[in-house]
Amino acid sequence: MSSSAETTVFRTCPLCEATCGLELTIGDGAVTRIRGDRDDVFSHGFICPKGTTLGHLHDDPDRLRGPMVRRDGDLRAATWEEAFAEVARRLPPIIQRHGRDAVAVYIGNPTVHNLSGTLYSRLLLRVLGTRNVFTASTVDQRPKEISSALMFGTMVSHPVPDLDRTSYLLLLGANPLASNGSLATAPDWPGRLRRIRERGGAVVVVDPKRTRTAERASEHVPIRPGTDAQFLMAMVHTLFADRLVDPGDGVRGFVSGVDVVAGLAGDFTPEAVAPLCGIGADTIRRLARELAAAPSAAVYGRTGTCTQEFGTITSWLVDVLNVLTGNLDRPGGAMFPKPAAGGPNTLGRPRYGRETRIGRWRSRVRGLPESFGELPVACLAEEIETPGEGQVRALITIAGNPALSAPNSGRLQRTLASLELLVCVDFYINETTRHADVILPAPSPLARGHYDLAFYLFALRNVANYSPPVFPLEPGELDEWQILSKLALAAQGLGADADPALADDAAIRVLVERAVADPHSPFHERTTDEVLAELAPRTGPERMLDFMLRAGPYRLTLDTLLENPHGVDLGPLEPRLPEVLRTPSGMVELAPEPLVADVERLRASLARAADGDDGALVLIGRRHLRSNNSWMHNIGTLVKGKARCTLQVNPADAARIGLEDGGAARVSSRTGALVAPVELTDAVAPGVVSLPHGWGHDLPGVAMAVAQAHAGVNSNLLADDERYDELSGNAVLNGIPVQVVPAGSGLPA
Ligand code: SF4
Repeated sequence: MSSSAETTVFRTCPLCEATCGLELTIGDGAVTRIRGDRDDVFSHGFICPKGTTLGHLHDDPDRLRGPMVRRDGDLRAATWEEAFAEVARRLPPIIQRHGRDAVAVYIGNPTVHNLSGTLYSRLLLRVLGTRNVFTASTVDQRPKEISSALMFGTMVSHPVPDLDRTSYLLLLGANPLASNGSLATAPDWPGRLRRIRERGGAVVVVDPKRTRTAERASEHVPIRPGTDAQFLMAMVHTLFADRLVDPGDGVRGFVSGVDVVAGLAGDFTPEAVAPLCGIGADTIRRLARELAAAPSAAVYGRTGTCTQEFGTITSWLVDVLNVLTGNLDRPGGAMFPKPAAGGPNTLGRPRYGRETRIGRWRSRVRGLPESFGELPVACLAEEIETPGEGQVRALITIAGNPALSAPNSGRLQRTLASLELLVCVDFYINETTRHADVILPAPSPLARGHYDLAFYLFALRNVANYSPPVFPLEPGELDEWQILSKLALAAQGLGADADPALADDAAIRVLVERAVADPHSPFHERTTDEVLAELAPRTGPERMLDFMLRAGPYRLTLDTLLENPHGVDLGPLEPRLPEVLRTPSGMVELAPEPLVADVERLRASLARAADGDDGALVLIGRRHLRSNNSWMHNIGTLVKGKARCTLQVNPADAARIGLEDGGAARVSSRTGALVAPVELTDAVAPGVVSLPHGWGHDLPGVAMAVAQAHAGVNSNLLADDERYDELSGNAVLNGIPVQVVPAGSGLPA
């Protein structure tokens, strides 16, 4: 029974892409209970274990409440004035002496789950004007962003599987029962997948590992790591060979390049591909025929398909199959969301899109390609450690931990200490921020407003939900938009005392001016000052969001969302072709030139001996429901129990190598070595071993007591910074060649 002092509030969980509605009970200024919000228009009460821990995160004694500044070699508590004075004293001279590119920025994944972070990190990037921008995207979804931009015109135009109406789902490199989905926003993936089977449909999982998702699927098809592109190309080949290609009446007139794809697939017969990917030719043909014959179907690929040598080709072929089987842009197929706050494919008009150009500039040392204004994180370490003009001398991180997430992270860890200046916007002293000169902590997620600006771009249903802060800022805390704005002003040389409202006012004015100038905007023919007056007295991210909602396709307002704490349901996805397209041609480009050119590289791979035939092992990653990359390991309820950072090994390999369940294995690659506890399981195929990422918290200076007690090992010590997808520069994190031997006397203490 709740006490009279208790209150109930509702908010969207900001921790992963599923956007679940939460019901929080607050008593005596603290969270006393969190459960799923049964009235949430999207999640209907679904919640996962992470969502119940927001109160723990808020109360975590290791979470920084105020800035830290390095003095005499040690990080010490400081005031905001002192922290920004340090930035203002040291950052502008580096830019003046060495140019804008001397400052690099690394933006981590939590930024995109955060309204302030999403909006105001852009402001900082604009002010800095550096070409050395790195994000977690290039160890994750960059290949998909490139293929979507080339095919549909924008980097966020991903067709998402219409889970609630499909009758056949082909899933590759994704484990949504552990991750809760990615680039396909939907609470309760387990229930949605179960219901596909309950209504007589099929879920087929192609994955090197028998994941939890695979265990509950209609069929699991094990594949050799890193060969999804060849497998998908053989499916495309089969569709053409069997005359099963039919994009459908609604789409046929808007697709170009079908004949080119037919020619490209010519050599990729199922027989040619089968030895490489470890899937029989008959199975490949059967799956292609099932896909074509299903009343409705969707192909969906995620992280595992991106973090491989042919990541962009794989991402492209996923949607090629959706098009060729008539499943693009139809209910039950792969569809385009229409987000309430707008987005690149709701602004402007078809046929007026800009050409997607990759590699407009290249990294200084190795020449890796830029994409969407960013360079691959695989080259961050060398840009810091290689002397010469353009060398990175200062780094700003925003909610990122590249010391754990970058490939060959041992190298990056060593090189972070050599920076002239490291400024981190982060609320933990973690493996990266322990090297910082200045740490600027953002407030707890419960002390800031939340709206999933990014993830509604990928939502399986059009919804909108805003959550006001649950708690006020604690004394001495700054909101993240203020931190990022003050950083931007300090970088401009405006000093430590500059008012963040200056940057905020300038940013909203630019947004409004653009809308006023756009003949297709509802604000055209209004004046900028009129629109700004309408948005007053709001400031900060809420003012920007209110404006974006008003300008968006449903003309909502923030007040409407505030009146609807369980969210606003805008209906199921609807066909959007050709209106959604932003390619210069106004067509779905099925055979974009950069991808066509890259197929030559894929063709050459057919001649390779299959990995694993000679007893060699390759490493793949894995997800766990209670883990979220590297940053939630300081929450006791999420890390307690059986150790999760284990090396999973197939019993046949273990017997051959001499490993025992619970023993220790030494795993090494070209870039590093580690010792991990062994877990025997036939869920991984012979020739494959698996480690989760985001662990390895036992480094000196880290101040996260719970995480340090459950340290685990850092799998990215083994990931090779010289292995990447050539088109995107995305790191290869799946299928890393490793050597595994018994660790001898056991695990180190
Ligand atoms: S699935 Fe994701 S959004 Fe939902 S409760 Fe869990 S962490 Fe939060």
